Amino acid sequence: MPSCLRLGVKRLAEYLGDNGSCAWATWRGMRGPYERLPSGFDSLGWTLEHNALVHSCAAELREHGYVVYRERQNAFGIEIQTFGDVTLPTPVCLVGQPDLIAIRADDAQIVDCKTGRPSSTHRIQGMLYQLLVPCNKRAPYVGRINGATLVGRIAYKGYPDVALPARTEAITPALLEAVRDAIRVLGRTREPVPEPSRDACRFCDVADCSVRFREQLPLGAEELALV
Ligand code: SF4
Repeated sequence: MPSCLRLGVKRLAEYLGDNGSCAWATWRGMRGPYERLPSGFDSLGWTLEHNALVHSCAAELREHGYVVYRERQNAFGIEIQTFGDVTLPTPVCLVGQPDLIAIRADDAQIVDCKTGRPSSTHRIQGMLYQLLVPCNKRAPYVGRINGATLVGRIAYKGYPDVALPARTEAITPALLEAVRDAIRVLGRTREPVPEPSRDACRFCDVADCSVRFREQLPLGAEELALV
């Protein structure tokens, strides 16, 4: 068992959002390497497209007078062992890396760039960044962020951007409760039950899952005769 269970903010947002993420797949992913199914994902194409979008957003923010921090400069890991009434057997480390953090006087923005279609998962990921970035005490800008109005934005390629409310409004009791419940399920030693579904399983790379969702084959002539 690792000393800390790593949970990516993107993965947590998928668990909380509308992608139908399976608790067992997330739980398994936090506990070290596993055998993965091959993926047809074009990672090189995605990297080029995503980087171009990040560069263009950063340039636009700089033109408007912001000091901009990019990707790896923004990487964080927030270790949690107690959250509300939840005490975990092993700490969970929430890790993430917002694409851009931009600061101008007392105005700060966290921008995440997406090349796919808009979804509620992206908004949740942005709100999780708003929750967690100010807790990264080692970041050089944390003092300025904590004294600023911190807003979020999801910048899309080919769709209008989505503005998130200021941190004080984005961090609702419902969001905190959802995060606490997720950490309670994902941080405990007992395995959650797998939740196979068409949407979750077709994007899941866990190779050793015996309950993966399979499309029903069309009924054959013999079965049709019985209908
Ligand atoms: S294949 Fe489906 S049920 Fe199995 S771990 Fe992945 S999402 Fe869960």
